[in-house]
Amino acid sequence: MNAELRNLYQEVILDHNRHPRNYATLATPCAHAKGHNPLCGDKIDLYLNIDDQQTIEKVSFTGEGCAISTASASLMTEAIKGKPLTDVMALFQTFHQKLTLADELLSKESHQIPLGKLEVLLGVKEYPARVKCATLAWHTLQSALENQDKVVTTE
Ligand code: ZN
Repeated sequence: MNAELRNLYQEVILDHNRHPRNYATLATPCAHAKGHNPLCGDKIDLYLNIDDQQTIEKVSFTGEGCAISTASASLMTEAIKGKPLTDVMALFQTFHQKLTLADELLSKESHQIPLGKLEVLLGVKEYPARVKCATLAWHTLQSALENQDKVVTTE
């Protein structure tokens, strides 16, 4: 990554940290989960509304954490809003793989799914402790979706 691109990515992260998007609670979420990254102290509450078509209708978060965790949560809400859950999980898989695996180990599918703005977070790959900050929101999302499934099966 060249210096110019790195600076641009840094700017996007700082902007999302200073002005997090979708930073709010939802009055009547159909799914909610808490996430905690004890290594860094990041905390997040994630709220979701999912419609009948299994599409993320609304998503928001609150929390306190480092710039990477806040920016990542903010970028995630923008990336997943209005998307079907199947696309969202594919996006998470690709994002997670690109943050944790060497390039030659990436699956074929992961090259076909564009990360869009989430690319700006891939720089943390060089700092393994920070990877947990960047993926906290996504793990919290996964847990919210799993809880939602539980509610659905007991009804
Ligand atoms: Zn952190």
